[in-house]
Amino acid sequence: MARFRRPSLYKSSEELRAMVRPGLLTAQALDAVRSALRVGITTADLDAIAERVILEGGGVPNFQLVPGYQHTLCISVNDEIVHGIPGERVIEAGDIVSIDAGAEVDGWNGDSAVTVVVPGGDPERAAARTMLADVTERSMWRGIAALATARNLNEIGASIEDAIDETGAWGIVEDFTGHGIGRSMHEDPPVFNYRVRGGGPAVRPGLAVAIEPMVTAGTIDSSTDADGWTVRTLDGSDAAHWEHSVAVHENGIWVLTAPDGGAAALVPLGVQPQPIA
Ligand code: MG
Ligand code: MG
Repeated sequence: MARFRRPSLYKSSEELRAMVRPGLLTAQALDAVRSALRVGITTADLDAIAERVILEGGGVPNFQLVPGYQHTLCISVNDEIVHGIPGERVIEAGDIVSIDAGAEVDGWNGDSAVTVVVPGGDPERAAARTMLADVTERSMWRGIAALATARNLNEIGASIEDAIDETGAWGIVEDFTGHGIGRSMHEDPPVFNYRVRGGGPAVRPGLAVAIEPMVTAGTIDSSTDADGWTVRTLDGSDAAHWEHSVAVHENGIWVLTAPDGGAAALVPLGVQPQPIA
């Protein structure tokens, strides 16, 4: 009888170190897009900027390796949660814009997302959107911080859910999850953004995961557009999405998609990230 070997969830230190470059290149692409984001630019323009940064950095835009997808970024605006396709859409004052990017270098992958509120527009709406983006980002960092001491992976989702619930009545999207990352952008195991039954895989050195809460100002229910990609809230409420790729190694955790390993956000939460040994 054939036996199928499941690829290990746990990578060697050498493999984790190979994920630093794609992580940093992903961060660099997102930085460039954030700098360029302004009223009047199209989402296709932003996509071109990210593609150039990744190619010039010796990487491959790994979203283009996903069957059927031809762009470097997903750009999801206002009620779009994830997987918005770059195109002729023009960024407007007050838009809440989630930008998801990924780079592959030497066959290893990075994956990260940020949400930015474009200055201008109705001040009340801008304040509400900024709060949504901030709450989502903070919940991501709480989930990442939990990874430093968690015994089992599903503790991450519990920490994200607690962080969200402490700040108000927000919706945590359940239709999508975080994931393992490595040779492929999307690997086992799933990383839930909310409390689930069971502990999930053991957290131990070698685990590399993308932690990516998706949060809405309303319903958690979503629909996918006729384009087959764009996911938006069913009630038209705003959405935000933050993501980092994180490695667990012998000396601690390191955020692969942050130049400082996540120190700026993690130290205040009591976690000092450690470079991969
Ligand atoms: Mg992503
Ligand atoms: Mg991801």
